[in-house]
Amino acid sequence: MNWRSIALPFLLLKGALLAAPLSADWFSEQAEVMGTRIGVELWHDSEQEAQQAIDAVITEFQRLDRALSPYIESSELYRVNQQAAHQAVKISREFFSLIQTSLDYWQLTQGAFDITFASVGYQYDYREGVKPSDQAIAEALPLIDSRLLTLDAEAVTVRFENKGVRIDLGGIAKGYAVDRGIEILGQHGIEHGLISAGGDSRLLGDHRGRPWNIGIQAPRKKPGLAAVLPLSETAISTSGDYERYFERDGIRYHHIISPKTGRSASELRSVTILGPNATRTDALSTSVFVLGLEKGLALINSLDDVEAVIIDNRGKMHMSNGMQDQQAPGANR
Ligand code: AMP
Ligand code: MG
Repeated sequence: MNWRSIALPFLLLKGALLAAPLSADWFSEQAEVMGTRIGVELWHDSEQEAQQAIDAVITEFQRLDRALSPYIESSELYRVNQQAAHQAVKISREFFSLIQTSLDYWQLTQGAFDITFASVGYQYDYREGVKPSDQAIAEALPLIDSRLLTLDAEAVTVRFENKGVRIDLGGIAKGYAVDRGIEILGQHGIEHGLISAGGDSRLLGDHRGRPWNIGIQAPRKKPGLAAVLPLSETAISTSGDYERYFERDGIRYHHIISPKTGRSASELRSVTILGPNATRTDALSTSVFVLGLEKGLALINSLDDVEAVIIDNRGKMHMSNGMQDQQAPGANR
């Protein structure tokens, strides 16, 4: 063997390494915000710029938490819940438009998605195992009704028509925050990334020439997966009865409330929605969970930009029409 046969491949390899920036890599970070774990993952050729993008996303999540949390006393949402039954409350355009979007989903889902669920919902404490009495539910149930919200687009105010009405954006805010985060990654010039917040995720581009593999949690086999979906450039949200719950006398009390009854919706174990953005998939996953199998599937099949994977309360998997031809291996449900 002469020296050339060894040296030439080495030189070619070195050339290839120099052509690609040396530090190009995946960067990721997790943080606890909005009462959930958020994750940011992205491809970048500069570690420093990757870190800047990640920090900007996490800062945005923290900003939205401070504005929209029902628990933080200085949040806009908290102030609205305190004051809007007495007077119209001036709010930010961003909060206003999120309420408006929520009302659009209230209409689309014939009331299944209703941010006034909180009029009853706030009386549950899933961590402490606290639930309202039947009487307390009956008294507050008429206050679950989005018609009791009056918005004034010119003055940018919200008003409640009754005392005792409360709102909570828990069914849509994480998705919105994920969308804001993806927008920020785009502003940083990032082409491949993933942002997740609890059950809400959105993928920016693909996983560099391959799809991302996104798992759907098996509702009763933590940490097992019910399916793995190869996906790119899409949003995906899962609502499940296993995320925040306690059990009493054989009944599972969890955080997705049927506006008709003021109690946890019980027909399904999990609903996964795929769609163009995470605000939409978040709102629709909560909605379909409330609507149940038949009405939920009918809604998703009537919309041409979203698909659904539903696991019913016996562990059986169902899919919307557009998903049927995709392989969703069912196991461990
Ligand atoms: P998700 O995990 O996206 O399904 O959101 C669940 C959260 O949505 C709950 O923790 C509540 O904050 C909120 N929520 C519960 N029931 C409803 C409902 N019927 N309409 C709108 N939001 C709801
Ligand atoms: Mg949701």
